[in-house]
Amino acid sequence: MKKRILLCLAHMSETGMERKFVQEAFDDNWVVPLGPNVNGFEEDLEKFVNLVDTKSGKHTLDKKVVALSSGTAAVHLALLACGVQPGDEVLVQSFTFCASANPVTYLGAIPVFVDSEPDSWNMDPELLEKAIVDRISKIGKKPKAIIPVALYGMPYQIDKIMEIANKYDIPVIEDAAEGFGSRYNGQVLGTFGHYGVLSFNGNKMITTSGGGALVCPNQEAKDRIMFFATQAREAYPYYQHEEIGYNYRMSNICAGIGRGQMTIVDDHIRHHQHIQSLYAELFKDVKGVKLHSSANPFSDSNFWLCTILLDENLPVKGQERAYQQAINQAVGGAAGVVHAGGSIHTDCEPDVNVEAIRLGLNEAGIEARPLWKPMHKQPVFAKCPAYTNGVSEAMFARGLCLPSGPWVTDEDVHYVVDTIKSLII
Ligand SMILES: *Cc1c(COP(=O)(O)O)cnc(C)c1O
Repeated sequence: MKKRILLCLAHMSETGMERKFVQEAFDDNWVVPLGPNVNGFEEDLEKFVNLVDTKSGKHTLDKKVVALSSGTAAVHLALLACGVQPGDEVLVQSFTFCASANPVTYLGAIPVFVDSEPDSWNMDPELLEKAIVDRISKIGKKPKAIIPVALYGMPYQIDKIMEIANKYDIPVIEDAAEGFGSRYNGQVLGTFGHYGVLSFNGNKMITTSGGGALVCPNQEAKDRIMFFATQAREAYPYYQHEEIGYNYRMSNICAGIGRGQMTIVDDHIRHHQHIQSLYAELFKDVKGVKLHSSANPFSDSNFWLCTILLDENLPVKGQERAYQQAINQAVGGAAGVVHAGGSIHTDCEPDVNVEAIRLGLNEAGIEARPLWKPMHKQPVFAKCPAYTNGVSEAMFARGLCLPSGPWVTDEDVHYVVDTIKSLII
């Protein structure tokens, strides 16, 4: 049977370094959430994020990194470290995966959503400032943090966002979970703000099976994050607790996989960027299909996922039946999703031609997915304030993610593009 071409899957090094580090953990009986692999992985990450490769020559930063059990845990601890309390507000990019916003609610705080600008699809700096001014006038206090997100790896306009954040003295937590290795003006995402979130889930740029990390401004901040990640144990010879902590440290087994992955991270990034350039070449003359890229000369995306927009009027085979197919195969392997009312429509969904392309690709053995549905259109966040401009909703209606990971070959990319062409009437 022909292989299915999937979006982005974990890919181990050819040299088997992941196994070597994991084997060492077993041999030395370090099967716990600390140990030599965790320390080694953090050192590797620090080396990686601190290298600034601008046109003017290389220099290094001195950020510290804590390895954690997930990227979501990293968002949670960063918010905690920024002093977010029940009733506080946090500005979050609306166009994102739910993990950027959910931890705000874990702390009893309220996400306030900010829409995107059309070049990067990330947080619109003008709207951000408008939101800050409006929140101050409405509730009389400043938002506690700003969370921009590197959607599909694309860098946000971090220079403008930092300028606004500094003007109002609000900390920035960069959600670079999808943007590991993406750069802005030569500097790695996650190192601009107060904190930077990384994810090593199975489908991200590199994996530890599940895991994440938080980029911290200095050793003191790193120690504080470590304290909260290991149940807030005070320095006594017995268990003394003065604050509430979490069990969020990365396991030494997972970190072993991470150390192996760090030996091939540059290859992975280059591969994703190569796949993007091949899509760009092949879509060049396809009318009605636009590959997402950025015109910002400082922006250097890892192209974690390659994404396209379809013209609203582009006719696609089968589009009149697109939403009649039952959603037994909900995207993302969603568990137990059954629509009681029998309707699969919401007031914010991909256009019929987009859904028809997705179904057509699926039939041809190719996985494609809609873009993230904006958080301000999610029922669970319906009561949260939102500052919108229509960009994320328009992108969501017209966009699709295409296979992009290390398993995707040049031949696969040709097949994906040919299949899309054959679906267009
Ligand atoms: C994956 C992801 C996260 C969370 O990472 P996990 O390691 O899966 O918890 C956070 N934000 C964004 C935008 C993501 O895509």
